[in-house]
Amino acid sequence: MAHKTGCTVCGSDLVYSDRPRLSTCFICKNEVVTAVTCRKDHFICDACHSSDANELILQFCENTHQSDPVAIARLLMNQPQVKMHGPEHHFLVPAVLLAAYYNHTGDEEMKKLKLYKAKFRAEKVPGGFCGSHGNCGAAVGVGIFVSLITGATPLSGKSWQLANRITGRTLLMIADKGGPRCCKRDSFTAIAEASKFIQEEFSVSLPLSEARCDFSSLNQQCLHAGCSFYQKN
Ligand SMILES: [Zn+2]
Ligand SMILES: [Zn+2]
Repeated sequence: MAHKTGCTVCGSDLVYSDRPRLSTCFICKNEVVTAVTCRKDHFICDACHSSDANELILQFCENTHQSDPVAIARLLMNQPQVKMHGPEHHFLVPAVLLAAYYNHTGDEEMKKLKLYKAKFRAEKVPGGFCGSHGNCGAAVGVGIFVSLITGATPLSGKSWQLANRITGRTLLMIADKGGPRCCKRDSFTAIAEASKFIQEEFSVSLPLSEARCDFSSLNQQCLHAGCSFYQKN
């Protein structure tokens, strides 16, 4: 289940103490004095609580050391700023892939630089792009990811080909599952296809946890058993 109450990281109850103490924010890793943590000691600072979805995604991906893009995606999807459907998934997809890729290859400086570029690019892809342009923003997000890790430009040769090819491949995978749109299904599909692609092209094997969807009850158009990520609550 998505964590609708309690801790947005693990779902456990929040504990209100009468003795505020220094805690590390789960998202931005800043140390802040707080009187509220969950039973497992997770804490999210006020700045992260009030930031918008893309800023929250950026902050978390900059600071996390995880290299499992599915785990990072599921954690971010549980945060209240990330809605059931919405254009924040256009950034979420390249952000979790960049974080996982550079954490795995050990290049933190490059990760930060590319995350900023990805945010700038992804924010140009409006909501509903899948229906209006026949080009799901999760697939565009994978194109942004491969463009950034290969340094592709409109004038590049091989990297231009790779970025366009992965967008096409991802879009076919998304299209084959049929509509209506689901930003969770499309994001999980995009992350899986991108991970397969970088294994094939660059021999980079990211650890991938199972992409189980916790959001079915929030999606009026959920395909339920017709979706490979569906799990009964
Ligand atoms: Zn927690
Ligand atoms: Zn924070």
